[in-house]
Amino acid sequence: PADGQDFGTLLKNADAALYRAKQEGRNTRAFYAPELNVATYERLVLEGELRQALENRQLVAYFQPKVRLGDGTLVGAEALVRWRHPERGLVPPGQFISVAEASDLIVELGEWMLEEVCRQLAVWRTQGRPLLPVAVNLAARHFRDAKLAERVRERLAAHELPPQSLELEITESTLLEVGAQTADTLLALQRLGVGLAIDDFGTGYSSLSYLKRLPVTALKIDRSFVRDLETDPDDRALAATIVALGHSLGLQVVAEGVETEEQRRILLEQGCDFAQGYYFGRPVPAEAFR
Ligand code: C2E
Ligand code: MG
Ligand code: MG
Repeated sequence: PADGQDFGTLLKNADAALYRAKQEGRNTRAFYAPELNVATYERLVLEGELRQALENRQLVAYFQPKVRLGDGTLVGAEALVRWRHPERGLVPPGQFISVAEASDLIVELGEWMLEEVCRQLAVWRTQGRPLLPVAVNLAARHFRDAKLAERVRERLAAHELPPQSLELEITESTLLEVGAQTADTLLALQRLGVGLAIDDFGTGYSSLSYLKRLPVTALKIDRSFVRDLETDPDDRALAATIVALGHSLGLQVVAEGVETEEQRRILLEQGCDFAQGYYFGRPVPAEAFR
């Protein structure tokens, strides 16, 4: 009650607190504090700049290889956005995705990325490269859009790409946030033949019946479990459990953030199917990935 004397102020301050909670990794709560207004101002500046960046083609797609753990075969890639800022250099998504997510900008960014990935896949095809599936990260707002599957279908068709060349990633917390409203959208994507992976798996609170019901094709074990595989028996047990859970539901399991040979070995022993991480390859621009 002390955070605003009128509706407008209260709503604005609640919004600042909501944004702070999202920044702190969701599934949390935050209270308004006057300092947050400074943050709000900075956010507005950043939002404006990001809008410009989209128009001025300052966003770049980087590609990180995904490999089969058993033999290291390249099986696909994940597209990760970078912002080539004229003054600040290469800005990682951690510094602007949450700002984009607070507005419709995230939808534009996602559409840009889908188009960019399809365009790049078509270029690689004309260069005689094998067509490998590329995963695109999407946010809650995309999955709330009933026309998502239709727009993805049109984009694939425009570049004459098979649906198997795209995979979409939704974080576990986003899936919980959008929940049942998106079941139809997810089913439409499944009918289309586009894969759907749950990103950062293990950090949310998915119910098992949920996992069984939704048309998901893969689970990605969050990097926080992979990081200490060598030293932490709990993390080892959790990773093994996620692999077993995924397999028993007929899903592929991908480990994120594999950095060492020892981590690779443990995951392989646990039966994990695929992996990404600096050990295999960092995200790189399209030219380098080719
Ligand atoms: P994510 O989808 O979970 O992507 C994995 C992140 O881990 C990437 O960070 C990647 O560069 C990093 N990574 C991969 N292997 C390793 C490793 O071995 N060690 C370490 N320390 N890190 C590794 P990045 O590119 O900074 O992206 C961060 C997050 O931003 C992504 O997490 C994703 O949630 C989001 N993001 C990135 N691009 C997009 C996009 O186009 N759209 C949306 N909506 N979100 C995106
Ligand atoms: Mg991802
Ligand atoms: Mg992840």
